Amino acid sequence: VWNNCMAVIKDNVPLQAYKTWFEPIQAVKLKGNVLVIQVPSQFFYEWLEEHYVELLKKTIRKEIGPDAKLEYSIVMENKQGSASPYTVKIPTSDKRAVKNPAVAMPLDISSNPIRNPFIIPGLRKVNVDSNLNPNYSFENFVEGDCNRLARSAGYAVAEKPGGTAFNPLLIYGGVGLGKTHLAHAIGISIKNRFPGKTVLYVSSEKFTNQFIDAVKNNNTNDFVHFYQMIDVLIIDDVQFFAGKEKTQEAFFHIFNHLHQSGKQLVLTSDKPPVELQGMEQRLLSRFKWGLSADLQVPDLETRIAILQKKMYTDGIELPKEVVEYLAYSISSNIREMEGALISLIAQSSLNKKSITLDLARQMIDKFVKNTAREVSIEYIQKVVCDYFDLPIELMKSKTRKREVVQARQIAMYFSKKMTKSSLANIGMHCGGKDHATVLHACRTVNNLAETDKNFRVYLEDLEKKLSVQ
Ligand code: ADP
Ligand code: MG
Repeated sequence: VWNNCMAVIKDNVPLQAYKTWFEPIQAVKLKGNVLVIQVPSQFFYEWLEEHYVELLKKTIRKEIGPDAKLEYSIVMENKQGSASPYTVKIPTSDKRAVKNPAVAMPLDISSNPIRNPFIIPGLRKVNVDSNLNPNYSFENFVEGDCNRLARSAGYAVAEKPGGTAFNPLLIYGGVGLGKTHLAHAIGISIKNRFPGKTVLYVSSEKFTNQFIDAVKNNNTNDFVHFYQMIDVLIIDDVQFFAGKEKTQEAFFHIFNHLHQSGKQLVLTSDKPPVELQGMEQRLLSRFKWGLSADLQVPDLETRIAILQKKMYTDGIELPKEVVEYLAYSISSNIREMEGALISLIAQSSLNKKSITLDLARQMIDKFVKNTAREVSIEYIQKVVCDYFDLPIELMKSKTRKREVVQARQIAMYFSKKMTKSSLANIGMHCGGKDHATVLHACRTVNNLAETDKNFRVYLEDLEKKLSVQ
């Protein structure tokens, strides 16, 4: 039975997740309609319950029958360090809300929230499931230079849906940079402020599929009418509409109707409007009516803050240096960075090893083995400042305090040694110094290293921290 279940699960979760979370599971026994599975740790159990409970329930019901129950047996470490299984009887409860449906149901095998999106004609108010993920809130969205405009525009829209110049609000940016998160945040915030408003989040893919179904069933009018009754329509990944003329046409009518009635539209796209090929001109020009705001790759500090936030909400603790290493290693995709964080935790829970910087390095380097990396000036500054327990702002400032001056010189020295940056660029990052100052700093550090044994120890210590094998 379990093998069948695994086959179904494998088809429904990303391979990485399958390997991490499902391969380590062992089926222990099946008594009646209760299937007992053994998981490697408490953390595994919690993670499965939180993220995959719906999938698990659905799968075992299919295999065993509608009354199927799942029990976990958790391998516990006892004090001696040997592992012995013990069983907790935790029937997967039906009421338990899935905290993160986006993770739990990557293929949307859940019951369709708008199974029948079409309403009885003449009915003014519809009761729609907004399809919002409560984890993707503004509270959980870390602000940084990379997202300031998009975030504040989103916030303004949430305060006055339909009442700002940002209509539509188009959020665009690369993969894994927070478009979907921000789109949900706007929806959640509007729902909280204006409970009476009908908010709907829908992916372009789902919108398209619904439209295709409607065409098949001859009720495209109902389809269009349904969408025209929404107060706040959030459509994710509109680049997906490219080349789909009929869908675009339906969307065009919906767009016009909503816009004219002062309803809010929020759209996301992985490209700026000008680069959206295969999109009708009249739609593109409408996208430009409001505001297009982009999400950029977050800087190191913001990435660290995002990881910290994530750890805080998931109740995870990790050594600071591990978090920094992670943020430093994976820079261009937040989803990937979070994925690495989770595998790290899963691995350590699987091997019963605590996460040290070395373990993290091994893991993360495997994760990103194909991307070439270079230590950045930013990272060097961060490591040096931590080492001397100084705030990084001081290093970037012009201050001449002795302890800062020395740390700054060391950062310049490593930046010259380990990055391809020009002296001028290094100087600019370190309190706006010119290239001569950087050269001088490098010489000073070299001299000190030759004459001062303690200083040499510092330097070697730092170099170890900075070097990536
Ligand atoms: P996109 O839709 O642009 O591909 P997502 O919105 O799915 O990206 O974001 C990927 C992951 O990164 C999500 O887990 C999201 O919560 C997280 N994330 C992105 N930006 C932020 C941010 N500024 N603060 C906190 N988490 C973020
Ligand atoms: Mg997205």
